[in-house]
Amino acid sequence: MRIPFVDLKLQYQSIKSEIDSAIASVISDTAFIGGSSNKYITRFEKDFASFLNVTHVISCANGTDSIEILLEAYHIRTGDEVIVPALSWISTSEAVGRVGAKPVFVDVCKDTLLMDINKIEEAITPATKAIIPVHLYGNALDMEAIMKLAGKYKLIVIEDCAQAHQAAYNGKMTGTFGHAASFSFYPGKNLGAYGDAGCIATNSEEIAVTCRMIANHGQLEKHNHVMEGRNSRMDGIHAAVLSVKLNYLDEWNNKRIKNSELLSKLIDADKYSIPVVNQSAKHVFHLYVIRHAKRDALKKFLFEKGIETAIHYPNALPFLKAYSGFGYSPSSFPVAFSETQKLLSLPLFPELSHEQIQYIADSLNEFNP
Ligand SMILES: *Cc1c(COP(=O)(O)O)cnc(C)c1O
Repeated sequence: MRIPFVDLKLQYQSIKSEIDSAIASVISDTAFIGGSSNKYITRFEKDFASFLNVTHVISCANGTDSIEILLEAYHIRTGDEVIVPALSWISTSEAVGRVGAKPVFVDVCKDTLLMDINKIEEAITPATKAIIPVHLYGNALDMEAIMKLAGKYKLIVIEDCAQAHQAAYNGKMTGTFGHAASFSFYPGKNLGAYGDAGCIATNSEEIAVTCRMIANHGQLEKHNHVMEGRNSRMDGIHAAVLSVKLNYLDEWNNKRIKNSELLSKLIDADKYSIPVVNQSAKHVFHLYVIRHAKRDALKKFLFEKGIETAIHYPNALPFLKAYSGFGYSPSSFPVAFSETQKLLSLPLFPELSHEQIQYIADSLNEFNP
């Protein structure tokens, strides 16, 4: 049996007529470029704001930009420090570096691989301006604890929700706890466009207006450039696709959750550590990550069985070449360092069949290095 890591074609086929007609309308309206006069953009921004129950959604070109634009809007710059988890996709720390500030890494928890909230306080210095919690793999961090700590030190909190559309903590959706949130709509994310796209969500009118200006050449109206900005607009086609797909997000996330429950039930838990879900968290399983000491041999074994897997991520952020200048050693972030040698992401998309899940679990249970 061949099981790909993701299969976006299956998803497209299930909603093909709606998607095709949404894209065709954008083309017939020549509504290609984002901006306040593009009805596809304004519609998606409204749809997603009401989905999240926030007052402002500002579309932009990708998730990485949404973090960088937010940092700029909060005037975070050279000399400032921003706390980020040691385990994430590089965008989280990269955006901090791009505005001239310093990313300060915090190790992750061994059970969930999420940022260790108990280690945030010791990373705070007089230069700390913000925290970027990442709801890694679709699992929600305890945002109540993070907001309490941020309040104590007057820090800005920007939630990185790139992997966590519709995740929740104590029934409240991720992206609605912090001062602002960043979302990616990269095609493979739980809510994905047909190319790069992202957005910012916030309840702050002031931050919303500033972000909207930064993302569109410093203008709110055409040719009235009140500041220097950049070009980070969402394309009309992506907004139209996202408006269609948003209606299915709940169904798709429920399928991801169901598939993860089945996998967790079938996989031999004595052989593998399987994802841990905190009682208070709604984990939307962007990724289903297991751990095994012989990870590389396991990956090869599964590949030979026809099962495609991936590694998120082979190196924790502090150990990337990009950060070699900081001179970290494995003992600086021991959990992130050791767990990245063991982790493996299994296929987990909504359209997986029961038979495929059974085959993945059987193959894992058969692995005997
Ligand atoms: C995907 C991702 C991003 C960035 O998204 P892009 O749209 O690819 O720029 C940021 N943070 C995390 C944790 C991600 O997984």
